[in-house]
Amino acid sequence: MKYEKVAFFRFFGRLNDFFKDNERVKVHRFTGFQTVKDRIEALGVPHVEVSFIILNGKPVSFDHMVNDGEFFCVYPEFQTIEIPSEWLVTPRYEGEPRFVLDIHLGKLARFLRMLGFYAFFGEEEDEKLCRMAVKENAILLSRDVGLLKRKELVFGYYVRNTAPKKQLVEVVERYDLKRWMKPFTRCIECNTEFEEVPKESVKDRVPPKVYRIFNEFVRCPSCGRVYWKGSHYDHMVEFIEKNLN
Ligand SMILES: [Zn+2]
Repeated sequence: MKYEKVAFFRFFGRLNDFFKDNERVKVHRFTGFQTVKDRIEALGVPHVEVSFIILNGKPVSFDHMVNDGEFFCVYPEFQTIEIPSEWLVTPRYEGEPRFVLDIHLGKLARFLRMLGFYAFFGEEEDEKLCRMAVKENAILLSRDVGLLKRKELVFGYYVRNTAPKKQLVEVVERYDLKRWMKPFTRCIECNTEFEEVPKESVKDRVPPKVYRIFNEFVRCPSCGRVYWKGSHYDHMVEFIEKNLN
């Protein structure tokens, strides 16, 4: 029989969302030689959600080999507290967030595009989605914990809510998106940024009444759709004011 080891984990903040019980300290038994990253994932928390890990008052990396009896404190990323970068097991995301979403989050992707964010989603295989997220320097959003445990992934987030509007509010808060929002700059259908076009150029492409009333038009260079600040735009502004302010 293999010698069984035991390690203790305390998870902080939103990392507790991955547990159904209310035990403050998780007692984890295992055998063999295991990294702290593997043990955290075995407990059900994908590595992308972990920002730093403390053992005996000192930060450890994901490849720390767990010894019998060790007690780890595991933390999510904090927006408000600046953690020394050498502590971090997942780097801080820098710059305007970009997103890759799995196929089940199509509505959330469209909402993010509405706010101006790059948000790819499609029926891709797990491996391809992850590769894409890495290549695009994007955050993978998913409700599939297994997908978020893939080792090549750097940035990822498990979307807690199931209703799309709540998901949007959740992601806006998680990534502090308000400061980056540029509503009405990206095609909701195909994720491409709009270009402004002269009014005359859309004369045959919009209803005559719209052409009479509106003076500013934008066009998606990819799918060719023309947009103007009509009732859809008013609804969008209302939605943002109601849900995101
Ligand atoms: Zn388009």
